[in-house]
Amino acid sequence: AKAKGRGAYQLFEPEMEEEARRRHALEHDLRGALEASEFHLVFQPQVRLDTTELTGFEALLRWKHPARGLVSPAEFIPLAEENGLIVPIGEWVLRTACATAAPWADLTVAVNLSPVQFRSRGLVTMVTSALAEAGLPPRRLELEVTETALLDDSEATIEILHQLRALGVRVSLDDFGVGYSSLSYLRKFPFDRIKIDRSFVGTLGESPESVAIVRTIASLGSVLGVETTAEGVETIEQLDFVRACGCTAVQGYYFGKPCPAAEVGRAIETLNAV
Ligand code: C2E
Ligand code: CA
Ligand code: CA
Ligand code: CA
Repeated sequence: AKAKGRGAYQLFEPEMEEEARRRHALEHDLRGALEASEFHLVFQPQVRLDTTELTGFEALLRWKHPARGLVSPAEFIPLAEENGLIVPIGEWVLRTACATAAPWADLTVAVNLSPVQFRSRGLVTMVTSALAEAGLPPRRLELEVTETALLDDSEATIEILHQLRALGVRVSLDDFGVGYSSLSYLRKFPFDRIKIDRSFVGTLGESPESVAIVRTIASLGSVLGVETTAEGVETIEQLDFVRACGCTAVQGYYFGKPCPAAEVGRAIETLNAV
């Protein structure tokens, strides 16, 4: 470590060096992960609040590293976005999610799209072909985008969103409220659903600000005719609260943690009995 007391010093801290090495190794291993079948999807139930009915599942990506075990998507997705691997990985996610969900009667499947996928060519063609190949009716697919997808190059992205919606696919605005300009995007594109970030739901008990924010987003949704999903509902208190606020749907550990495809049948039975 040199240049003590200077900003540059930080770069040579042993922990930072170790962190950089880990990232580098992960990035390297990520390149072979798709071919080595190290990815799988897990599915988390989504429930509508008026009837407490299961409406579908969100597909979430998991990477089982042969030596390190499960690596969090919060760690490897940014790496895959940096090196562009998220394009083939995201295609695998979409095709696998559509094929898995096709036999689920009329339930929906929600798939996350990375901003990088919007900048790649042929996204609309890929979605069309994934639906056709799986035999999944477009109405049963929801695509989740965060505002970071809309930040740069938003004209082109909005055009692609219109094309996706023209297929009959539904489009959700994910992690609503944590970005800088979530509100302005509601004017630029007719989203079908707003997903209220779980940082608000998780702090309802202690933060009057969170209470006000969840209420305001729910009534905004109701005025705009947009569904509002409260994310990260873990307790009955949070469930009652977001229902009282006027949210139209929930997702969170209270109704179920993400589970492998093989356990979805059981999750459907359990939730239908609620
Ligand atoms: P997200 O899209 O906001 O997904 C919801 C995250 O919240 C998931 O974390 C889920 O497991 C977690 N979660 C759901 N309910 C609860 C709850 O009640 N309590 C708590 N504490 N957490 C809850 P996960 O699976 O670790 O995914 C993290 C993020 O990684 C996702 O956030 C999404 O941004 C990204 N991601 C996951 N799969 C994909 C994918 O296939 N493609 C892309 N582009 N991003 C993905
Ligand atoms: Ca999501
Ligand atoms: Ca989210
Ligand atoms: Ca998130």
